[in-house]
Amino acid sequence: MDQKMGEREIEAEFTLESAAVCPHCREMIDSIQVVRILRTKVNFVSSLPRRGQVMLCPKCQVILTGSLGGLI
Ligand SMILES: [Zn+2]
Repeated sequence: MDQKMGEREIEAEFTLESAAVCPHCREMIDSIQVVRILRTKVNFVSSLPRRGQVMLCPKCQVILTGSLGGLI
């Protein structure tokens, strides 16, 4: 793995109101990182929004959940 962690673009970090356990690394986490996703390929009849975001575990960077549009 040659991931450049320091250069990874994090859109935002949110604090959880109560701690949770990451289902992947089993670590207790009290925040979630949010990274923007941009639509780069689309069928012209698609009604999917142009952008969205995924939420990552701050410890192992696994994608926990994501959503498209609406949130911001
Ligand atoms: Zn994790």
